[in-house]
Amino acid sequence: MQPIYLDYNATTPILPRVFEAMRPYLTQHFGNPSSGHAWGLAAARAVAKGRGQVAALLNCAPEEIVYTSCATESNTTVLRGLCEHKPGAHLVISAVEHPATMACAAFLESVGVSVSKVPVDAQGVVAPSAVAAACRPETALISIMLANNETGAIQHISEIAAIAKERGIPLHADAAQAVGKIPVDVAALGVDFLTVAGHKLFAPKGVGALFVRRGVPLTPMLRGGGQEQGLRAGTENVPYIVALGEACALAAEDLDAEMARQEELGRVFLAGLEKLGALFVLHSAKAPRLPNTMAVGFKGYRAVDILSGLVGMDVALSAGAACHGDTTTVSHVLTAMAVPDEYAFGTLRFSWGRPTSREQVEEVLDRLGQVLAGLK
Ligand code: PLP
Repeated sequence: MQPIYLDYNATTPILPRVFEAMRPYLTQHFGNPSSGHAWGLAAARAVAKGRGQVAALLNCAPEEIVYTSCATESNTTVLRGLCEHKPGAHLVISAVEHPATMACAAFLESVGVSVSKVPVDAQGVVAPSAVAAACRPETALISIMLANNETGAIQHISEIAAIAKERGIPLHADAAQAVGKIPVDVAALGVDFLTVAGHKLFAPKGVGALFVRRGVPLTPMLRGGGQEQGLRAGTENVPYIVALGEACALAAEDLDAEMARQEELGRVFLAGLEKLGALFVLHSAKAPRLPNTMAVGFKGYRAVDILSGLVGMDVALSAGAACHGDTTTVSHVLTAMAVPDEYAFGTLRFSWGRPTSREQVEEVLDRLGQVLAGLK
């Protein structure tokens, strides 16, 4: 049986072109970008090229890109940098953020920051008016994700940015799931900070980026050798930075065509689901969504049973969010959306990517049909 991977929101493989770009920087061009000799200069040029490629995808200036180790670090840098050590600071987030934001907000609460979690509607979408209502004179930051990792729902970030701007509050968007899947233009979105995760767009795990709008103050979390304009010290991870740059360049080349292809895979998947005879709901069906993500709640089933059946048939996917492990406890995202239990407990996340073919989607539908029939 051919193994089929439909868990691209958990992580992606390094694409061959990305690996080939980074390979010489693992062995041959090993210099430290801060060194003034030929080895160092070659590494510095590579870091600069990568910065330009990331900036081009996000439509910002290269100096506005800070390399980090992951999305968690990018989010933490912004949340702690703007709220910690500010007596009386207030932070606004949504109820459906990734744990990379949630846990950091909980930590900030423990040191005296007050946190408001803006609710979402049944589609998993935050109303910009609810963000406005949550803001206070002492609000130091608004942090709302661009696309949700479980449902793929896309938030109204540009409307939220207008609200933030009116009140002079900096806005951060966690775009770990969005970059490389949909157009992410920081100028059009109007954000001050934006998180990128390398391993969600075919670069390796262990590299991320943070967009920091020019002139917006940020207290660094890591201090040391002054790398990354003093905002993130530590010798740059040159090979992974090269890979992230190449992955961004690749995404920029054919984003529209790849989005259309992935939307078509979604239509094939949904049409196939409807023929399986099980009652199901597509979460966030009425919201704008990522083209590669479908969170499906099968009525009356337990996600863990479907999951183990599919895993037994060599299909990789997640129940709830992969980052939380594979238990069937209802995720905070589905809870925030008030999804009825009979659908919530049977929820699986299918997420596809560049390597996924139509044949693979059809094959998964076939295997899913067998699993559901066996569980009846
Ligand atoms: N933010 C979102 C929206 C995510 O989906 C993830 C990972 O799933 C993260 C942040 C954290 O990414 P990492 O574990 O690479 O730091």
